[in-house]
Amino acid sequence: MIPKEISKIASHCRHCAMCKIDFLQTGLCSAGAQNHFVSYYPMGRMDIVHALAESQIPVTERLVDIAEACTLCGLCDKQCYFVTELRPMNVMEILKETVIAHVKAGKKIVRPESDLVLDRLREVVGERWATNDPAILTCYAHDTGIFTGVQTPNYVTMPLSREDVSSIIKICNKHQVSYVVRGNGSTEGLVYARDGLVIDMGRMKGIVLDKAKWFASVEPGVSAFELQKEAAKNGLRVNVAEPEALVCANLMTTGIISTFSASYGVGASNYVNAEFVSLDGESFHLNERGAPNLYACQTEQMPSPGICTRADVKVYAKMDDEDGILIPFSGFRDALVFARELGQRRIGIGVTVLNPEYMATFVAPTRVLGECIKRSFTEDLGIEYAVLVLGDRYALQTVRSMTDHVIDSQLMRTLVLGMPNMAGEEWRDLLSGLKGNRPTYEIMVKPEMQPLIETVLNPSPELFAQAVAPDLKEFFVKLYARPEITNLIWLNMFRIVSPRMGRRK
Ligand code: SF4
Ligand code: SF4
Repeated sequence: MIPKEISKIASHCRHCAMCKIDFLQTGLCSAGAQNHFVSYYPMGRMDIVHALAESQIPVTERLVDIAEACTLCGLCDKQCYFVTELRPMNVMEILKETVIAHVKAGKKIVRPESDLVLDRLREVVGERWATNDPAILTCYAHDTGIFTGVQTPNYVTMPLSREDVSSIIKICNKHQVSYVVRGNGSTEGLVYARDGLVIDMGRMKGIVLDKAKWFASVEPGVSAFELQKEAAKNGLRVNVAEPEALVCANLMTTGIISTFSASYGVGASNYVNAEFVSLDGESFHLNERGAPNLYACQTEQMPSPGICTRADVKVYAKMDDEDGILIPFSGFRDALVFARELGQRRIGIGVTVLNPEYMATFVAPTRVLGECIKRSFTEDLGIEYAVLVLGDRYALQTVRSMTDHVIDSQLMRTLVLGMPNMAGEEWRDLLSGLKGNRPTYEIMVKPEMQPLIETVLNPSPELFAQAVAPDLKEFFVKLYARPEITNLIWLNMFRIVSPRMGRRK
């Protein structure tokens, strides 16, 4: 029996897949990293517990394996809290307890029967990597989108190579099984195969960096975070989007839109070649004569050319003197005109327009503090929008010559680490005393104001951690003592705070 409050936590999983990457350097869920199916990761376990509570799945052989694989290490609690404020650890404990109690009581453990299609799939990928076990299927059946409901596949498989993918497609064609390929998760029902096969690419994790030719060959199971980490290790950068998103999937669907797209481009600008398995199971490359132009502008919906099994993604130089600044504005049009001028003049490597909703949600560790900060940005400081510019010292010098109002990276760090005091009276008194005809931020960003701001906000990792759950304070103090966690270049490369936009579900 799953307690109601546990089922409620489980049902609030955002399917953000952040617990599938090691974005806090705590280490990765070992059960997931070894067994790859999403059902072994915290994200899948949330779905399983909800399904058990609703009596949608029985206790199966695979469910016993999933429960046993969890070491109750607690990593998912830190990761998930950082993004969503959820505490999934209780869910993990109940899952393990419930299944172990079921086994100890000698109750029935279901072993789903195989069939012809599953037998053929297993001949290709091996027994373990193709399944019809409900404990696996239920984690590939729905997402947080509101349009598609639950669509349970008949099978899930995890290929290891292009050859595997090719054989799988041929089996599907021969037995008339519908299929869909899946990256790290799902939004708005894009990756369902009701009564068909889901092909999860999570085992194809190869990255080969060719520094001399400025590209990285990336297999479809590689996340944006993992590729960026590999590039950064080599003093380079890639243009990727959300950290948990798989690079090939992102490249082939949204075309990758990031802050760095201001200089690196979108769509076809991001790759030099890609390998596909076509709908008839044969492989081809995008740089072959006659290959489809994926980003050609078409007014009608185009059929998928197949499954991307490798992309050669461009890599870029990273300069030692890069930094980020924010230019505040009291109106959208002024912010947009400024950002557009930067684009037209080709200034900066990353440019974007943000509003306080985004800024506050990204930097605040909790939803409540985020609301306070948003109010402080808009009502106290008069900031309605800000243009974020990332660049080397030449670019940033130029930007400074274009405006008098700049929030530099040091002030930004002060605001982030002093955030709990931005909700306090002393800060609000200071700002109300500065109110005049012009927006208050114009005074606050003056260099001579910085010592006063430092004194009032008294920023430190210890202060920042006062905003989080008491048992996680120590962890947050250590985390925010790391300089990259408040560094605008690092944050925009790795984007670990942007999934907080899903905090409210
Ligand atoms: S909400 Fe938490 S458990 Fe669910 S996918 Fe995101 S990080 Fe994982
Ligand atoms: S507690 Fe279990 S589910 Fe959570 S990270 Fe550790 S092994 Fe994974």
